[in-house]
Amino acid sequence: MEKNHIDFAYEQDLIVRPDSRVPILDREFGHYTGAGVPLFSIGGGYYRYTLIDILARFHARRGYHIVETPIIASSSLYKLSGHLDFYRQNMYLFKIEDHDFAIKPMNCPYHILLFMHELARHRNKVRLPFKIFEAGRVHRYEPSGSLYGLLRVRGFTQDDAHIITPEENAVESVYNVFEEMRELMEKLFHLNVSGETVYLRLSLSDRELIGKDFMGSHEEWSKSENILEQAAKMISEKYNIAYYKEKGEAAFYGPKIDIVMKIREGEAEKEWQLGTIQFDFNLPRRFRLYDLVKEVYGYDTLFIIHRALMGSLERFLGVYLDYYKGRLPFILAPVQFAILAIRKGTDIDAEIESLAYRIKQELIDEGFRAGVVLASKTGLSKEVRRLESTVKPSVLVYLGEKEIQTKTLMARPYIHSERKRSSIKIPLDQEYPAKHVIELGNKLESAVRELVGYAPRIPGDMEYML
Ligand code: ZN
Repeated sequence: MEKNHIDFAYEQDLIVRPDSRVPILDREFGHYTGAGVPLFSIGGGYYRYTLIDILARFHARRGYHIVETPIIASSSLYKLSGHLDFYRQNMYLFKIEDHDFAIKPMNCPYHILLFMHELARHRNKVRLPFKIFEAGRVHRYEPSGSLYGLLRVRGFTQDDAHIITPEENAVESVYNVFEEMRELMEKLFHLNVSGETVYLRLSLSDRELIGKDFMGSHEEWSKSENILEQAAKMISEKYNIAYYKEKGEAAFYGPKIDIVMKIREGEAEKEWQLGTIQFDFNLPRRFRLYDLVKEVYGYDTLFIIHRALMGSLERFLGVYLDYYKGRLPFILAPVQFAILAIRKGTDIDAEIESLAYRIKQELIDEGFRAGVVLASKTGLSKEVRRLESTVKPSVLVYLGEKEIQTKTLMARPYIHSERKRSSIKIPLDQEYPAKHVIELGNKLESAVRELVGYAPRIPGDMEYML
């Protein structure tokens, strides 16, 4: 059977899954963890911390404020936002000391409170559009029958942001979100965002149902639908990306644009929803933001845009692993370098081994994740096959007698755009053996450095995973 994202994630130690070899982790495992709440493992820790670091800096550099809000709230917060009335069936609610609490299903209410807090303190010194980002963990009830791996879960982390904008900046704000998404997908994830791979789905109201299924006035709807369409047109003209209007598909609180990637799988074409940009005139009203903004800035209207570029870190990881058959970008991969020490069964073996461990240590000291695999010359291809079908190190580094004699290493980084490994010869420095391997690492991180100004590194001795 063909492997799916759950197999890939398990093989790279990204997530825990039931394991028959150990009681408690066996089939009863779900009994302890709770279905639909993925438990990330050691490799998953590297993925999450690195990614969240990149996302935080990415957004901060683009004018977003970075926050982290609590996982639980008094249920009154969600009464005020309307979620308790419209979204109750998906919420986890509980009572302590006679107080009603909710586990956070959405970050928006907290973000609006934070905007109000800034306005109260700093008044019109707070610049609009006000942009606020959180790698926000939310929990939503889904029927147990619909849960699946990382794709359909009950607990997940959104790359969530809210843009509070006056009308005059609204089109530009929507357009910018698309630009941000394109940059992130291309530079971090090696995904091509163009007219050939992506289209926009513009979900609009049904005029006849405004006031019933769609909250707000006709004027509010046509104004915001107009803004979204103008932005969609701009994107379409600049990148030759098509957009389609779908009447009646909007959220009850406002219209939205989804950015959808088309994936060809053999004959079939699948869709992968990347980013979403949603307009909202319901929440500002509920939080009485119109009055406050009028008082502080003099504006009569303002919009809240909910947006995510990846959707959720969990689901995105799942689709990505399926798409790239388990190959994560270098910067996010649990094992970045596997050094293959190729032994011959002669005197030179000791030299090969000690050099391999030295290179590993130098890589770790530089902040990379690396391990050594000892292989015999005859067993080498078998070892490589084993690594390729399990841990999938980003870069394989070959070190044997020939490499020592020629003072040249062979490195084989995985190249996403070609969907295969390339082979590069790199000099073996006598003083500092890992020197040029580190340079290769720098190079593999360079797009991320362009994106956020630096490349986050969380080092690790990954030997035991290999
Ligand atoms: Zn939101």
